[in-house]
Amino acid sequence: MAGSLKTEAVVLRSLRYGEADRILHLYCSDRGRLAAIAKGVRKARSRFGGRLEPCARVALVLHQGRGDLLTVTGADTVASHARVRDHAAALDSAVRACDAVNRLFGDGEPHPPAYHLLCNELALLDRDPSRATWGNQLAFRLKLLVAAGLAPQLASCATCGEADHLVGFSGAAGGVVCSACEAGAFALSEEAHAFMTAALGAPLAEAPHAAVPALRQAERAITATAEHHAGVHLRAAVADARAR
Ligand SMILES: [Zn+2]
Repeated sequence: MAGSLKTEAVVLRSLRYGEADRILHLYCSDRGRLAAIAKGVRKARSRFGGRLEPCARVALVLHQGRGDLLTVTGADTVASHARVRDHAAALDSAVRACDAVNRLFGDGEPHPPAYHLLCNELALLDRDPSRATWGNQLAFRLKLLVAAGLAPQLASCATCGEADHLVGFSGAAGGVVCSACEAGAFALSEEAHAFMTAALGAPLAEAPHAAVPALRQAERAITATAEHHAGVHLRAAVADARAR
């Protein structure tokens, strides 16, 4: 089906291609993930200017030819997120957020909640780059799991339903587990459990705080959930966990 289509998207990744082109991995509001080529975008006088940088939110016109790859024929900025690119930690967080979406939502199906969540996260980092914390990145990933239909069970034991003595987390069971069911699980402290529950219940901008050991456990729970239930390996949530 050759022709033009309009969509809104976040640029997840941008790869050099040939002399002056880039291949863009896009996450579209109404089409999910797709790839498109931006021809001549690396030339100094490209008609796209700097509008197709990673993490930018753009309104696009794409041309579909005979091949698989779409061609970008028009691009307008919806939100450039330029401040994110001026702050190393914020850019690192934004890139990891885009990477998590790329891995969890690569099926070519639209997932509007995931798109809006990514836009919210990028807008938050752009508004206040100091929000680029480990806790924020984990809160974002927890909400992404929910958008993917993989919400971890946190209120009671995922194996037997017991509401007390919740001491571990099992990726296979899909949530917290009690002391009787903890075989095969790893320890989850009260603080890590409380962090996950609070992060899921609060807006992204109000991600709760927790100490490093609790964040480490929460990240392990998130990573195990994505691995067991989506077959997806998420990158580390922060570049250097000791530094945050
Ligand atoms: Zn149990």
